[in-house]
Amino acid sequence: MKIRYKGMDTEIARKYWQGGLDDDGNRVEVAISSGDGVPCRHCLRGVAAGEKYLTLAHRPFPIKGAYSEMGPIFLHQSPCEPFPPSASPPTMFAKRDQYLMRAYDANHRILYGSGGPVGTQDLSKRASELLAQEGPAYVHLRSIGYNCFLCRIEREESPGAPDGANASLRATLPKNLCENDGGEGNGNHR
Ligand SMILES: [Zn+2]
Repeated sequence: MKIRYKGMDTEIARKYWQGGLDDDGNRVEVAISSGDGVPCRHCLRGVAAGEKYLTLAHRPFPIKGAYSEMGPIFLHQSPCEPFPPSASPPTMFAKRDQYLMRAYDANHRILYGSGGPVGTQDLSKRASELLAQEGPAYVHLRSIGYNCFLCRIEREESPGAPDGANASLRATLPKNLCENDGGEGNGNHR
């Protein structure tokens, strides 16, 4: 089964860059990266030391529901290049030994039996195994220690379905709501 790792849709990231509220209705936080442990979900690279980043609550599902968990994510504060969908994991994932993987069905519900820790070397193999089955529609990769959503893995031929709720709602929000919010001296919120 051919798979692809996929970062956050640029359309969704752009709304945060333009000052849109997060999925919990709050203004996003701005902080300065220490250079470690700040993975941007759009470019799927670490935010370098000294660069600003956003912290916000994100629901990485196209619907709301019992299984559509919302949680904290980081993004570069300034627009970054999208991660090109790739059959190989983003290189930043090599920094950790293992990740939490879970499969979801087409109704965005967890497929029980699919979840568990996976060694970094085996990420693609395990995702391939899951997506070769009929039930899973896509797989989530999350941090092992904090359960933070990192990226989605899907079949290579999957249509480009939206990966976040409220995309249309956020499009209507006023821009620059969080301009000058936080910034220098705000420290890291991790
Ligand atoms: Zn980025």
